Amino acid sequence: MADIMDKIVSLCKRKGFIFPGSDIYGGLANTWDYGPFGVELKNNLKRAWWKSNVYQRDDMYGMDAGILMHPKVWEASGHVENFFDLKSDCKSCKKRFKLVDLKNAKKCPECGGELTESRKFNLMFKTEHGSVEDNASLVYLRPETAQGMFVNFQNILDSRHPKLPFGLAQIGKAFRNEITPGNFIFRTREFEQMEIEYFCRPEEAEKIYESWVEERFSWYLNLGIKKDNLRKRQHTKDELAHYAKACTDIEYNFPFGWNELEGIANRTDFDLKQHAEYSGKDLRYFDEVKKERFYPYIIEPSGGVDRALLAFLVDGYFEEMVKDDLRVVLKLHKDLSPTKVAVLPLLKNRAEIVELAKKIAKDLKKTFITVYDDSAAIGKLYRRQDEAGTLYCVTVDVQSLEDKKVTVRDRDTMLQERISIEKVKEYLFEKLNRDSSVLL
Ligand code: ATP
Repeated sequence: MADIMDKIVSLCKRKGFIFPGSDIYGGLANTWDYGPFGVELKNNLKRAWWKSNVYQRDDMYGMDAGILMHPKVWEASGHVENFFDLKSDCKSCKKRFKLVDLKNAKKCPECGGELTESRKFNLMFKTEHGSVEDNASLVYLRPETAQGMFVNFQNILDSRHPKLPFGLAQIGKAFRNEITPGNFIFRTREFEQMEIEYFCRPEEAEKIYESWVEERFSWYLNLGIKKDNLRKRQHTKDELAHYAKACTDIEYNFPFGWNELEGIANRTDFDLKQHAEYSGKDLRYFDEVKKERFYPYIIEPSGGVDRALLAFLVDGYFEEMVKDDLRVVLKLHKDLSPTKVAVLPLLKNRAEIVELAKKIAKDLKKTFITVYDDSAAIGKLYRRQDEAGTLYCVTVDVQSLEDKKVTVRDRDTMLQERISIEKVKEYLFEKLNRDSSVLL
């Protein structure tokens, strides 16, 4: 099973999805750069999230807060005091372990060497803000996007006047100096989060929490994750963060085991109360009908962009035998596929065919993300597009010059249909737009 990961890492590099970071310098461990297909896939994923959580609802507001925030934010949030892992080092092989991963082992699990006493290790990256090198200029790279939404709660009330329940949504970078990064883009020190902070009356919180768990679970299924590979796991009481009343993880069956994709937590009124105390601002909500002032509860669905992207890659990766040939295909959902259409001339040395194919590609580019490729024989061109998850290949051949038709090949079924050039855009539009529409 684990070799699926090797295959995916290799495909990602070969095809231009994800490259090792700082590659020409020998790499910087556990950093990754998204290439031409990777950035499209990532943008599509974020767009699909934004669409269902912001555009398709009338109780949600988008945000994009700064990565650098006032250092007091992280005191109020509890990160300065509590956001650490306990780590222990092997005195012989120098490998570093999280205490939880050691499961009470007294010796190094790798080499049997002696382990150091466990020490606290804060996961926040520190840096300086401005040129003064004293404590006042110390800032952190945010370890989560959530706080940017809590500290803007009052601004949203004042500018948009929403009534409870309502939510804020944000996608952005977060940084954690993880002790044990790894498994490709699953756990890195720089990553992206997609987070929602949903504010509600305390008495409604439990129900709303349950509905968000269902909502978020369905989102992954609707984008094509196989049902058997997705599950919910409710946190036990002793796993819960001190402020949380309940938390459910959505887990994916990665090749390296079941792991968290997203967590949905009932954070109670902890965050707003903390920021009110540390900032000295009254962050209570005023209910004009009941004439009462109170701290709303917050339900937080918090997911990782990179982790979700890895799950979609793993879930969509297929190897199939087609007439004694191995076909590798990424069966990504149509909203996620980096390229929707490829236009391929059957014969690249026939000028009229090339010219016609280029003309068709130029026209399709106005509507769909389309590529033109004439750099190999047709069999190879198809294989290339399958590996990149391209949904439709439009092939222009000799006959196209006469009957003004092209062959459209479907990535998943490999069925081919002859469609008139005049109708090809409409045909693709119908196919790509049938049950959803994030593509234009
Ligand atoms: P884990 O237990 O795996 O460290 P967490 O419970 O600390 O994760 P949260 O603080 O709930 O994670 O963050 C919300 C989401 O952000 C996670 O579900 C995950 O998708 C993503 N995430 C967190 N840490 C990382 C990381 N180091 N690399 C990539 N994604 C991450």
